[in-house]
Amino acid sequence: MKKSLNDAIIECRLCPRLVEHRESVPSRKCYASETHWRKPIPGFGDPEAWLLILGLAPSSDGANRTGRIFTGDPSAKFLIRNLHAAGFANQPDSLHRQDGLKLIGCYLTAAVKCVPPKHKPLPIEIERCSRYLEEELTLLPRLKSVLALGQIAFQAYKSHLLRRNIACRSFKFAHGACYECEGVPLLYASYHPSPQNTNTGVLTDQSFQCLLKKIQERAL
Ligand code: SF4
Repeated sequence: MKKSLNDAIIECRLCPRLVEHRESVPSRKCYASETHWRKPIPGFGDPEAWLLILGLAPSSDGANRTGRIFTGDPSAKFLIRNLHAAGFANQPDSLHRQDGLKLIGCYLTAAVKCVPPKHKPLPIEIERCSRYLEEELTLLPRLKSVLALGQIAFQAYKSHLLRRNIACRSFKFAHGACYECEGVPLLYASYHPSPQNTNTGVLTDQSFQCLLKKIQERAL
């Protein structure tokens, strides 16, 4: 992704509540001795990506600590393991920024680039941060599909479609749902790979693999 966009994201301080939170939120005790990133998190992946995976926001143990989206927390463990199994990643782990992870045909980003308290950004914060998602989308010209992880990411992407005057008000979030609109990538929805879903069987490796396979078969 363009350095100038990533630099603008990393320097952003537009949301006072989130700036305060990202700079002070503790992570688990086992990470206490590490230097934490504590800045906004740009997207990461293949600039030639045909699949964009849109998450909610960084987590305190994950990207706010490590400085890379979907890196170093249980959601990353689930997601990257499954992306690797489906051929979208060169390795099954996403542990830290220098771990050698490369994504293939896939780009990861979040609707909100700063860690929010209790994983809940305010509507105004989602709206403010949408400027960066808009720019990321313009820099990914080969996109064929967007996979929104969870309800908030799904709504954030719907807001993007509405800004482009694309009729999508009837689109409802449901795991595995797929929506098609002329001139824009297919939109898919999945439960978010957070522990509250993956530890309870709401989202399993098998169901996520099925969805990735469906996305691949329709696109390729
Ligand atoms: S959430 Fe987005 S708009 Fe708000 S401070 Fe972070 S990067 Fe800036």
